[in-house]
Amino acid sequence: MTERQPSALQTPVYLDYAATTPVDPAVAEAMAKHLTRGGVFANPASRSHLYGWQAEEAVETARGQVATLLNADPREIVWTSGATEADNLALKGAAQAWREDNPTGGHIVTSAIEHKAVLDPVQWLEGQGFSVTRLAPDASGQIQPEQVRAALRPDTCLVSVMHINNELGTVSDVAAMGAICRAQGVPFHVDAAQSAGKLALDVAAQQIDLLSLSAHKMYGPKGIGALYVRRDPSVRIAAQIHGGGHERGMRSGTLPTHQCVGMGVAAAQASAHLETEPARITALRDRLWGGIADLPGIRLNGHATERACGHLNMAFGDCDGELLLLSLRELAVSSGSACNSASLSPSYVLKAIGLSDAQAQASLRVSLGRYTTEQEVDFAVEHIRSVVKKLLH
Ligand SMILES: *Cc1c(COP(=O)(O)O)cnc(C)c1O
Repeated sequence: MTERQPSALQTPVYLDYAATTPVDPAVAEAMAKHLTRGGVFANPASRSHLYGWQAEEAVETARGQVATLLNADPREIVWTSGATEADNLALKGAAQAWREDNPTGGHIVTSAIEHKAVLDPVQWLEGQGFSVTRLAPDASGQIQPEQVRAALRPDTCLVSVMHINNELGTVSDVAAMGAICRAQGVPFHVDAAQSAGKLALDVAAQQIDLLSLSAHKMYGPKGIGALYVRRDPSVRIAAQIHGGGHERGMRSGTLPTHQCVGMGVAAAQASAHLETEPARITALRDRLWGGIADLPGIRLNGHATERACGHLNMAFGDCDGELLLLSLRELAVSSGSACNSASLSPSYVLKAIGLSDAQAQASLRVSLGRYTTEQEVDFAVEHIRSVVKKLLH
């Protein structure tokens, strides 16, 4: 089962679970049985022999596990290479399908703080003639359902709003948005890459039509994800990858059996741990914050309560952000967002919730997860305290 905490502290302490998670040992074990000659290695699309049937069965079991996580039908799950591809398929696929019936126009509603995997395809669609409304978050990073309602137009072909913001951890009320979109007959896409195992997902109750997942954010392997595509009322999406007609024509390519199996086991574990894991991680996160909240100039970015269990994004008042990150040598954390770490420009998410360039530069995202221990948290508290005190001197 899951590896338990090694007694010796491993440094730097990994506190970047929002960027990616280690693969759960049970997931890795299941994957290893679907690679080599002695295992289930065949092409799941091979219909003429036992090897192929076994691979197909493994993939379909995994598909069922992902569907169960979402309260969906297995036939509504399309395998992708990750949440980036799932977002692209949802946005471009829905927009293109809409265009087939409506040669001009087309309006997309999204938010200003989506992951780049949503923002960039939306911008590309804008270049193709779609008009776009980008909803502004409030100071906590929430998008309000009433903003979605007010933005809808007769030619709105898609609404796309994320569930948990990857930088802040702020949670938006996607169920209320789903109700508004369903009443207007507008397809509703949710990027839920950060949600699995943290918050309950239920595409029926939340009235979601398209939903993106990524295995590596939920203790599964990198390189696999899924898009949920509703069958009733059915949502039409145009394929973006052609070649062989796999996945009901929506996404061609030989399925990576071991990756699918890994994501399936990860999804089953996410469901199984939902009752206990988020509460444990929240307690650790609050212990960390409680240990540093009195440092001069420090403040929490995001929502005080409507926040995913592992997330702690904070601005360190008067510290130089770059120097801060460099000085926190014993911690593996992120400056705002891993995806922005390559560039020195301040996070567009932190800017959108009202932080100045300097405040955004002086912000850090610490994210805890399944293997975070009390010992690691206490070590992080001491390390952050001593570094900040030195920098403020
Ligand atoms: C990580 C992440 C993605 C991208 O997922 P990949 O599987 O790495 O492509 C998209 N959206 C959000 C909110 C994420 O956190």
